[in-house]
Amino acid sequence: MNDILPQETPHWRRLEQTVSRLLASYGYGEIRLPLVEKTELFSRSIGEVTDIVEREMYSFDDRNGENLTLRPEGTAGCVRAAIQQSLLNVPQRLWYAGPMFRYERPQKGRQRQFHQIGVESFGVASPDMDAEHMLLCARLWRQLGLAGAIELQLNSLGNSAARREYRQALVTYLEAHVDALDEDSRRRLHSNPLRILDSKVAQTRQVLDAAPVMADYLDDESRADFARLCELLQAAGVRYTVNSRLVRGLDYYNKTVYEWVTTRLGAQGTVCGGGRYDNLVEQLGGRQTPAVGFAMGMERLVLLMLEAGAADTSVPAPVDVYAVAAGEGAQREALAAVEALRDRLGELAIVQHTGGGSFKSQLKRADKSGARVALIWGEDEVRTQTVTVKLMREGAVPGEHSGQQCVPREQLEATLRAVFAD
Ligand code: ATP
Ligand code: MG
Repeated sequence: MNDILPQETPHWRRLEQTVSRLLASYGYGEIRLPLVEKTELFSRSIGEVTDIVEREMYSFDDRNGENLTLRPEGTAGCVRAAIQQSLLNVPQRLWYAGPMFRYERPQKGRQRQFHQIGVESFGVASPDMDAEHMLLCARLWRQLGLAGAIELQLNSLGNSAARREYRQALVTYLEAHVDALDEDSRRRLHSNPLRILDSKVAQTRQVLDAAPVMADYLDDESRADFARLCELLQAAGVRYTVNSRLVRGLDYYNKTVYEWVTTRLGAQGTVCGGGRYDNLVEQLGGRQTPAVGFAMGMERLVLLMLEAGAADTSVPAPVDVYAVAAGEGAQREALAAVEALRDRLGELAIVQHTGGGSFKSQLKRADKSGARVALIWGEDEVRTQTVTVKLMREGAVPGEHSGQQCVPREQLEATLRAVFAD
């Protein structure tokens, strides 16, 4: 579980602000969901035989003996809320963002507390909704300067009958190669064989190369929907590759599944994943409601933004003006004057020196803060009702501003405006 430090948060904010503006522009409403849900919500939706439910959840008994879990993902909670709050009478476009928790082996781009932005649409069965989600992602990558770094992989898992038939074919094939499978995959051979397709073990992947593919088993409706989706994406200029081995790590998907992947983050290359889950609402006690959604990993996107140079790594100094004052009278005057400045120059970050000390030590702090301007109040300034305005970054300031000037109190605002107008 990581700390996100002040020099990193500007990148997070950029991502968050870009996403929230974009989603609002597509008509999505933000929903804020609890971090804790009943454990059974996750085991019933994500699936008992999945990495998440088998070994990644942070679960605990509360004081009533009820088993609760820190959410490992957002879809289950969003569906729970949509059912409980009667949001499903009309088509809904929802999004959320926040921390998720999975007990995984931490590495670059993989943490135990990580952050996702999730998007869910309820009530539309046709693939135009799937396409909308992908268009929205494609636009987001463009806005973040990542369009060249991320590619879309698509697959269809078909309906449950098709999946059952495919599953049988896959099991028959894998049974014949059981000795070459890794231990996890062997264990899953009968409990959740589709998950084996997602195995990262090299030897298992080799076996999978010749395995039957889902595309040959699709039901007519799923096949038609998938073809339509591909057609819509092509018409809208979204590039994709069909990856017939793509399955997702959660059991609730049907029909469309997809991932946005990059080769620039090593093994943790999936920055966003999603798909259709037309049966989940009903499975969790709601009325049959088609649904589609995706979630993106914010850590990975921020890493990618930095890696791709899409984010300026030299974060601008958080301080514009640093105010120093020596002597009680000067401090009193400075405090009030800085407050008055904040009333009128709200766009500037003005830090007031606190804790006293000599001019020298205060100006050292001013310099360290990265501020462009120091404002100085001493006994002389109080007596003459002036303020000394000192430009701290001479080289960076164009024009004829001298290094230091003493200005009448009432001209302070105008002087600062002039300096920061450059
Ligand atoms: P992976 O195969 O990388 O484990 P996943 O299939 O478990 O991913 P999802 O549950 O679909 O991932 O979550 C969507 C996205 O959230 C992922 O594509 C990834 O970007 C991000 N994500 C998932 N788990 C983590 C984690 N432990 N740390 C950081 N990001 C994560
Ligand atoms: Mg995972």
